[in-house]
Amino acid sequence: MASALSDKLSRLVKEMRGQARITEANVQDMLREVRMALLEADVALPVVRDFVARVKEKALGQEVVGSLNPGQALVGIVNRELVATMGEGVSDLNLAAQPPVVILMAGLQGSGKTTTTAKLARHLGEKRKKKVLTVSGDVYRPAAIEQLKTVTAQAGAEWFPSTPDQKPLDIARAALDHARRQYVDVLIVDTAGRLAVDEAMMREIRELHAALKPTETLFVVDAMQGQDAVNTAKAFKEALPLTGIVLTKMDGDSRGGAALSVRQVTGAPIKFAGVSEKIDGLEVFDAERHAGRILG
Ligand code: GDP
Repeated sequence: MASALSDKLSRLVKEMRGQARITEANVQDMLREVRMALLEADVALPVVRDFVARVKEKALGQEVVGSLNPGQALVGIVNRELVATMGEGVSDLNLAAQPPVVILMAGLQGSGKTTTTAKLARHLGEKRKKKVLTVSGDVYRPAAIEQLKTVTAQAGAEWFPSTPDQKPLDIARAALDHARRQYVDVLIVDTAGRLAVDEAMMREIRELHAALKPTETLFVVDAMQGQDAVNTAKAFKEALPLTGIVLTKMDGDSRGGAALSVRQVTGAPIKFAGVSEKIDGLEVFDAERHAGRILG
């Protein structure tokens, strides 16, 4: 099925009919359509600029200028570049370390950390036959601890109790100690998030990272955040050595441009996509499928 972008490019090429060959100026017109498509998909402006510059370099080679079907040739280049940008290094979770392997969840409040913690617990239990323990370090919202307890039960995993009067670091250490004694394979640590990036939250999660030495530090980000995802991603990348991204709420109506932005800004691979509110609504991220969605 033709994408919206390839329709637009075909139209442009038709308008050029009668010209002896595709010129650099024609390529510029086509690149303008590519830029529009990415902006419509909510890819952040600086990321769009970089991306279009890379595509231009490739397009000005013979591949487009000398092609019989320049519109399709350019769509092909854009598609390959999208997949290369989003797909490189995509992998499942790294569980090769000595157990208990620790996964630290990072992200803003409402991004889907707690839900994703339970989804991952289920994924690791069912698909990889791991014994999983979850714990909440969110002592600021008592409801968050209860929420994790409920969704962990749905996931069929174990939950380690914590209370709002404890310090997140103490909770994390106690959970790690318990995980060691109980031969847990994977400990997933859910953390507090604020509505916006703030220094206290970043300091706290850095301390947790230092104490837990997690194998995976996953940045959870809402795909509906669009342009704003870039600033959030930058702040978390500066605070923590991220090992992967989980893009949530991909079942929403966004075109998912946040994937490209966040991948580019953090350099971390997108490992999973959240596709529903339900416990089984988690998929291994597929860059090729996602490229099609961004192109519209
Ligand atoms: P946290 O504050 O980061 O822990 O976020 P939560 O896990 O509490 O999620 C916030 C809201 O987003 C909840 O209503 C979740 O059900 C919802 N949510 C999380 N992931 C997804 C997803 O992939 N798709 C949809 N539709 N909703 C999600």
